Amino acid sequence: MDKNTRICIIGGGPAGLSAGMYLEQKGYLNYTILERLDRVGGKCWSPTYKGRRYEMGAIMGVPSYYAVHDVEEFCGITHDGPKLNRNYKNAKGDVIEPFEPKKNILKIPRLLRMKRQIRKFGELLETKYQGYDLNGHRGVAEGRYDGYAVTPGRERVQGINPNLKDLAMPFKEFCAKNGVDLVQDVWIGPYTSFGYGYFDEIPAAYVLKYLDFQTTMNFVKVNLWTWKNGTQYIWEQLNDHLKNPARLNSNIEKVERRDGKVYVTVNGEVEEYDKIIVTAPLYIPNKRTDGQKGMVEYFDARDDEKKLFSRIDYERYDVQAFLTKPENHPEISYYVFDNMVPEKLGHLMVYYRRWRDEIDQVITTYALRKHRNSAEIPYETCRQMVQDDLKTMHNPAEEVINEWSVYYFPHVFSADYADGWYDKVEAMQGKYDTFYAGEVMSFGDMDETAEYSRELVERFF
Ligand SMILES: Cc1cc2nc3c(=O)[nH]c(=O)nc-3n(C[C@H](O)[C@H](O)[C@H](O)COP(=O)(O)OP(=O)(O)OC[C@H]3O[C@@H](n4cnc5c(N)ncnc54)[C@H](O)[C@@H]3O)c2cc1C
Repeated sequence: MDKNTRICIIGGGPAGLSAGMYLEQKGYLNYTILERLDRVGGKCWSPTYKGRRYEMGAIMGVPSYYAVHDVEEFCGITHDGPKLNRNYKNAKGDVIEPFEPKKNILKIPRLLRMKRQIRKFGELLETKYQGYDLNGHRGVAEGRYDGYAVTPGRERVQGINPNLKDLAMPFKEFCAKNGVDLVQDVWIGPYTSFGYGYFDEIPAAYVLKYLDFQTTMNFVKVNLWTWKNGTQYIWEQLNDHLKNPARLNSNIEKVERRDGKVYVTVNGEVEEYDKIIVTAPLYIPNKRTDGQKGMVEYFDARDDEKKLFSRIDYERYDVQAFLTKPENHPEISYYVFDNMVPEKLGHLMVYYRRWRDEIDQVITTYALRKHRNSAEIPYETCRQMVQDDLKTMHNPAEEVINEWSVYYFPHVFSADYADGWYDKVEAMQGKYDTFYAGEVMSFGDMDETAEYSRELVERFF
């Protein structure tokens, strides 16, 4: 492609900003990033309380966050945040140690079986499911893998593996099929509580592309990265280092694609581009109070775009930031496994203490209020349930100082996954001078989205 190609990027989150970085590194300097908000970072939102930043969105990374590491190198920053640690509580608010055999004498046989199944699962993923962990979903539903290895060198790999078709199944079914049901006890911690849905509804592909074996072990060993100034700082820094920083407060009213050009009406002016990369939501099935819309609503969306993108759903994942009385401040972050099942929809699953050295700081709570087979819990109801749970946990909130229910983890369900949704969308890349990136194309975390942007630039530019 001509290096002077005029490229419009919609969205100044990790996917959009890293697309800018990788384009720039490849010699494309004629790119423009349009961001609707007055800040960059998207779901990496780190507001300040009493001089310290807390996390309303993304919190942590792992050592295999190679694309995030590219950004760190580009900007000369590093993961310099507070060390994470956590404990567990049951739904009654008692501190428990679910994985410690001495504290769970009756559960020892189950814990031993779990250990064996984890070992078996690791072997299965390496052999039977070879190629499962590549970024993106190209070929999976057809029993192929095609992408870049999750290694520092990110070598291009391709191959045929019919077993990969199993990844379309809900993770629960996938585990049952492979005789490793108990691995869910470990995978659920960094999965459901992080808002990515329940194992009986989410295709195994999403679970395992994010929580590949190595990443899960990093979670188990608490071998995690955080950033002192918050995850938003990574993207603020990237924005500051780009030749063309994002244009904030960009209200895109219309996008029309005709005669090999893309016309974007932004803040009342029409701008002309050659190509457009969409990292903002492709489809939102309901009306949102924050005004976010799916691209099919403001683009001259074609029938194939409308048909495919209308299959996308997303999680209703709520975060509250609260202060406590000093005597009610939690000692540490807590996970509540009892509340990570669909029957406990809307209840508190995790609460996070970021600053261990100070108690006049913010604690954040996390709850899901949608499951495919149940009625969605209204926002206010869930908000109250979480506050009641905090009382049960002996850490009642004194004042909620921030909250949001974010457009989270867009995905498709098993039938569409198995029907080749991803290959159909991948085949559309570039078709209308339009490229699709961001969370739904890979997975809803900082690294998978940035990595997908890297590959998109590699493949098409
Ligand atoms: C509570 C929470 C916890 C999380 N924890 C982690 C974690 O620990 N680790 C991790 O790696 N990830 C975590 N994530 C996920 C991570 O933040 C996201 O996956 C990542 O930010 C996705 O990047 P993105 O650029 O695809 O989308 P986004 O971050 O959503 O960015 C999209 C951008 O597009 C903009 N936009 C939307 N519509 C338009 C429009 N019409 N015009 C212009 N701009 C538009 C948005 O304002 C936004 O800035 C968490 C997220 C949340 C909410």
